[in-house]
Amino acid sequence: MFFDFSDSANVGKEYNGFILLSVDDLPDYKTKAVYFRHKITGLEVYHILAEDKENLFAFAFRTFAKNSKGMAHIMEHSVLCGSEKYPLKEPFTTLNATCINTFLNALTYPDKTVYPAASTIRKDYFTMMDVYADAVFFPLLEHATFLQEGYRLELDEKGKLSIQGVVYNEMKGNYSSFQPVAYSKQINAMFPDCFASYESGGDPLEIPSLTYEEFLDFHKKFYAPDNCLLYLYGDIPTSEQLDFLNENLISRLEKKYNCTGVIENAESKLPLIKPEIKKLQKLKKRACAGSGAGERSDYTTETIYDVAPETGASGNLVTVNYYSGKADIEKYFLSDVLFGNDSSPLSVILKESGLGDEEQCYNFGQFQEEFFTIGLWNVKKGNEEKLFELIQKSLQDIYKKGVAQVDIDSAVMGIDFNLREENRYWGPFSITLMEKVMKCWNYGLPCSKRLSPISDFEVLKTKLRKDKNYIKKLIKKYFLDSKQQIRFICEPSKTFFKERAKVEKEHIKSFEKNLDKEKLKKNLDELHAYQAKLETSEETACIPTTKISELDKKVDFPKCELNFVEGADNSKIPLFVCRENTNGLFYMNVLYPFDRLDIKYYEHIPLLSSVITNLGWGGKSWDVCTQQMACIMGDMMGRTLTGMVPDAPECLEFVEKNKEYNFINRNWLGICCKALTSRASETLEMLAEVITKMDFNDTKRFNRILSQLKSEKKAEFVPSGRNCSIKRIRCMNNPYLALQEILWGFSQFETSMEYSKKDSKKTLEIFRYIYEECRRAGGIIQITADEESLKKILPLIEQFAKAAGITKLQPGIKRSLEDYIPYIRQADKATGNFCTQVMKVSSQTGYAAAITDCSSFLTNESAAENVLSTWLNNHTLWDKIRTIGGAYGADCRIDAGSKNFIMSSYRDPSPEKTAELFKECLKEVAETPFDPEEIEKTVVSCYGDYIYPQSAKERGTSSFESMLYGSPMSLKPAVVEKLLSVKAEDVNKAAVSLYENTKKLYRTSIFCDKSVDCCGNILKIPL
Ligand SMILES: [Zn+2]
Repeated sequence: MFFDFSDSANVGKEYNGFILLSVDDLPDYKTKAVYFRHKITGLEVYHILAEDKENLFAFAFRTFAKNSKGMAHIMEHSVLCGSEKYPLKEPFTTLNATCINTFLNALTYPDKTVYPAASTIRKDYFTMMDVYADAVFFPLLEHATFLQEGYRLELDEKGKLSIQGVVYNEMKGNYSSFQPVAYSKQINAMFPDCFASYESGGDPLEIPSLTYEEFLDFHKKFYAPDNCLLYLYGDIPTSEQLDFLNENLISRLEKKYNCTGVIENAESKLPLIKPEIKKLQKLKKRACAGSGAGERSDYTTETIYDVAPETGASGNLVTVNYYSGKADIEKYFLSDVLFGNDSSPLSVILKESGLGDEEQCYNFGQFQEEFFTIGLWNVKKGNEEKLFELIQKSLQDIYKKGVAQVDIDSAVMGIDFNLREENRYWGPFSITLMEKVMKCWNYGLPCSKRLSPISDFEVLKTKLRKDKNYIKKLIKKYFLDSKQQIRFICEPSKTFFKERAKVEKEHIKSFEKNLDKEKLKKNLDELHAYQAKLETSEETACIPTTKISELDKKVDFPKCELNFVEGADNSKIPLFVCRENTNGLFYMNVLYPFDRLDIKYYEHIPLLSSVITNLGWGGKSWDVCTQQMACIMGDMMGRTLTGMVPDAPECLEFVEKNKEYNFINRNWLGICCKALTSRASETLEMLAEVITKMDFNDTKRFNRILSQLKSEKKAEFVPSGRNCSIKRIRCMNNPYLALQEILWGFSQFETSMEYSKKDSKKTLEIFRYIYEECRRAGGIIQITADEESLKKILPLIEQFAKAAGITKLQPGIKRSLEDYIPYIRQADKATGNFCTQVMKVSSQTGYAAAITDCSSFLTNESAAENVLSTWLNNHTLWDKIRTIGGAYGADCRIDAGSKNFIMSSYRDPSPEKTAELFKECLKEVAETPFDPEEIEKTVVSCYGDYIYPQSAKERGTSSFESMLYGSPMSLKPAVVEKLLSVKAEDVNKAAVSLYENTKKLYRTSIFCDKSVDCCGNILKIPL
């Protein structure tokens, strides 16, 4: 039987056993959604019918955490380690290696576990759906998997015991610095005695108390079909998807899960949700139980203290938190008004208080109950009470005085802009919608409840117009009348790691007591043998793959046109135009070269680019400027851009053709902005003012930015350790990489630490000089927008170029590697083709990196190396470094432009071993011939990278920037053609030559804890 699913008159009808429960109109997304439940198994399906060929599905389960043993997280990993139909070691990695996907992931939240995947190719989409369905409902969950992914005792050569495991190590990495720990402790504090008070990923101190039996029970209870929502998005018809489920899944589900009863409604699921919602609601009564009650009997404040590791901290995290109830756009708007940008009233007060250096203000909206948090990072001990009082008093003052119209306008502008921009921050836009759906479904609410943000905001705007006191009322309701406030203080602790290490040792000791070492050794040998076993292509053949002959050889690439407008000096100014579907918005770049300056100034470029739009212009204070900007634009910021031209003949030809315009292979400083096209003329007018009337006088503001910069850099040091390591070992390769190190690497870290408040005046003078010199060197303009927007904007550009004083681009000055070396910090430790650089800090986790040479861009050899690196990522590196070595990630890639082959590990428990292991991996592949079928699969998966969808903004940026560095997007079809002709013997040759290269150049880096014993050039770290 067939009927029109999207006709609400058909609600209640049945298709293949699925009953249509509702049809939701989603005018904000110009579409509809359909909601089904399977009448026997209880499986629910929610499909957003979008005209998008990038289809996405996600299996979701309600898995509210009951403790910090990390059950849901270990389960998330383990179901992906083999299932009935796909009895492979890791179907997930096999899928990733063979299917063209634009998203493939598994995510554990405190209240749910979600398995999403997306593809633009239908065959691969259904393959992934089948593998994922089998994984979640029919996993093998062998004991060996539990030991590998969860935790186990390991015995080293000396007979020393330790606890290992993928999740165990991953979570240890989570406890490595102050900020993430302090952040999650705050959330735990806000939701006591319920799922959100636990570490949903698992606390390494509690993970070892989980038993295999508990683990199996967890699957039985939570991974049942009647606790599953299958979310779908895209243009594959619902009927086709339901047919697929019916044929491949339903009868097996009915059998395994003994589904006999007919499920009429959602009631059967409520036992799972109800207690969790009750626990959340109990928080409302928390006031009565709190201590330190105020004068009103129904009002309390409670202060909660906690600690986090001192690594990365420059002071305490101190916040006041107000429970705010259920989610709605009102709270989102109120937080934007009060602390949406730097010039918002509460942000200004906090910033100027001098009590801390970075605000921590937002509306926390991950669960059914939400809260506002207001506070600061890096508050000096002893200033906590002052900050609490300041927040209280400021809210009262803002309430009394009312909020300025400009703050309201900028909040409205910001939200209007954000609701129109379709971004791909971490995968397809459909993931953002998925999260909105899950937040409701998980608590038994209608899936569409959060799918009307634009309409909801229009309603709010009407209220705002009608009621002068609307915002005052909101402030009163959520803050002044709030009956429960939680004051939270998190202090950096010097002994945090020590205490945790002590508990870990105790765990090991108690395990040791009744341990049969012989038996353990036997078990471990078995596990290690299983891990080391390579799967043959006969074994992985259970997952169907797409053949090269089935691929669409015509590759789409974004285009960028080079036009010219007349500048302030009546010369021709390059104008780059990218026509993309931007939905009524536009993105713009104005760039000036900084490469005519003396190199000694280069190290200042990153800080300069982050302050240029933040110090004010036209003699107005920065906060007035920021306010004005936020009322007109979506955003505006400084930017830095560098790159290099690959030595391929095609690139050199492009350079030659455009030589006269001077825009290729330059280093840029500039400003970018984004705005609604309806505000184009005001935007351009303001941008011209910013550019020509930039101020460098506000030392007070600059000093605040400096403190913030320093604490940010400190906080980032450990989390960004991998990037830092990679930049260091590459910096002696060529001038471009040397500059990268100076601008973004360890050298920049030193530079940042040296900025001193007492020299601010002098520093700002230097910045003014750099900025003016860059402008004098001429400029270029770039715009990304849709056709309609361009019709409106392009006629305004010439006037803008003149008003902004943009002049003819002067030629750059060529620099050599030697020119840069004096500006690389501790450069002596980076020289030598076989050097090892060591960075030691207090950290529970580490990173390793290594490089050697590879082939040039656009050669057949480079195409083969690309395939090899993908193969290594999915096999050798994954097996040896992740599965066996216990690191959270291992990765290699080629940078053909710089002729660098880069290998690295992430959250690595033993980086000192990994640094050498990389070479062994290359040796191994150099000595083993590849299976042609495996290589074909890898080529197809590499091809996926070239058809990966990008947002309109990304398309504009990539086509523009690739032109600036001589490898325009029009070369993409040639790259893909070379890729598709790669054969197994080419990859063999690539492996041999890369391994040979390591004998000429093999630079490594180790980033580890202070206690690790390893040799190499140890860098002095100014932490
Ligand atoms: Zn994980």
